Amino acid sequence: MELPRLDQFKRIVIKVGSSLLVDRSLGKVKRDWLHALADDLADLHRRGADVLVVSSGAVALGRSVLGLPAGALKLEDSQASAAVGQIALARIWAEALAERKIVAGQILVTLGDTEERRRYLNARETLERLLAMRAVPVINENDTVATSEIRYGDNDRLAARVATMASADLLILLSDIEGLYDAPPADNPGAKLIPVVARINAEIEAMAGGAASELSRGGMQTKIEAGKIATSGGAHMVIADGRQINPVARIGAGAPCTWFLTPSTPVTARKKWIAGSLVPRGVLHIDDGAARAIIAGASLLPAGVKNVEGDFSRGDCVLIRNGLGGEIGRGLVGFDAPRAARVMGRNSREIAQILGAEERVEMIHRDDMALAGDFSVEG
Ligand code: GLU
Repeated sequence: MELPRLDQFKRIVIKVGSSLLVDRSLGKVKRDWLHALADDLADLHRRGADVLVVSSGAVALGRSVLGLPAGALKLEDSQASAAVGQIALARIWAEALAERKIVAGQILVTLGDTEERRRYLNARETLERLLAMRAVPVINENDTVATSEIRYGDNDRLAARVATMASADLLILLSDIEGLYDAPPADNPGAKLIPVVARINAEIEAMAGGAASELSRGGMQTKIEAGKIATSGGAHMVIADGRQINPVARIGAGAPCTWFLTPSTPVTARKKWIAGSLVPRGVLHIDDGAARAIIAGASLLPAGVKNVEGDFSRGDCVLIRNGLGGEIGRGLVGFDAPRAARVMGRNSREIAQILGAEERVEMIHRDDMALAGDFSVEG
C-alpha cells in the first residue's frame, strides 16, 4: 500500500505531548527540541500549509512551578497547575513561532466547544480567520474550568476533534513511541511496528493495550480513539516518535511511524455528517436564483431566502426547500430563527444596517451544506 506523503497535505494539526515538551526532572520546556519542531512547522507553513498545534504541557509545567510532588494530582491541583503552566506554555510557543516570523494565537477549548453546534460554529470560524491570516492556532484544553464530566482529559482526542472541526486533512500525533505495534512493545520484545492501518477494527484496537506514561494521559488506546474520530472526519492520522529532533521533518523523510488512512475527505465527511446524523430543526424556503446558485456551489445568502419555519438556533441543521417545496439540501444555519427571519430577502448592506456590520453574511456556508444530489438524505 502506498503511504501518503507529507507534502500532499494542506491543513495539518500537530499534537505535542507533555512528555516530549517538558523535561520531567527540571520541570522546564525542552527548548532545543521545541525550536527544532518550530523549524519543521515553519517549513510546512512556508510551503503554504495551514498549521495548527495542539500542545499539552500546561499541567506538567505548572506543577513544577508550584512545587507539587510527583505522582497523580487531584483535579483541583491539576487545574491550578494548568492555570499557572498555560501562561508559560503559550509564551514559549508564541516566542518560538515569532522567531520564525509566524504569529501564534492561543485557543483554549472545552468539550462543549466541539460538541455543541453553535459553539462549534463559533470556534471553527475563529480558527478559519486565524488560518486565513496565516497565524498558527496553539490549542489546549481549558483545563482550569473543565471538570471531570466535561473534559476530554487527553489531548489525543482533543486534537482529533480539532482536526475534524478545522477540516484538516492530516493529524500528526507526536508521541513517545514510534507508532502502533502488533503487541504492547514494553512486554513483547518481538513486537512489530505496523506502518499503515487502512481501517481501525477490533484487531487493531486489541493491539493498543492500555499503557500511558506518567506525564501524558493518553496511551495507545486514546490514540486509536483519536484515529477513529480523525479518519471518520476525513483526515489521515499519523503517530510518530516525537523524541527525536525535527520529528515532523523525519516523518517526511520516511522515519518509521504508523499511518491511519481515511477513505474520505474532510468536506465529504462533513457533508455526510450533516446529511445523515442531524435532526433538522427548521426549514428555509428559497427562491429559484438561490437554488441555482447553491447547486452551482455557492453559499446560501439571506437574499435568496423567502420564508423561515421552525424554532432553531444558530448552528442547528435546517432543511432547504425550493419554490415547489422540494427538499434540495440541508445545512448548519448561521442565524437563529428570529434573526434569520429578519435578514431574509435582504442584501449584505441592508443586513449590516439591521444587525450591525460585525454579523456574518451567509445564511448557510457552502461547507456546512449537503445537497440532496450529493447523498441520499434521510428524512
Ligand atoms: N491538557 C493537558 C495539559 O496541557 C494535557 C493532556 C494530555 O497530556 O493529553 O497539561
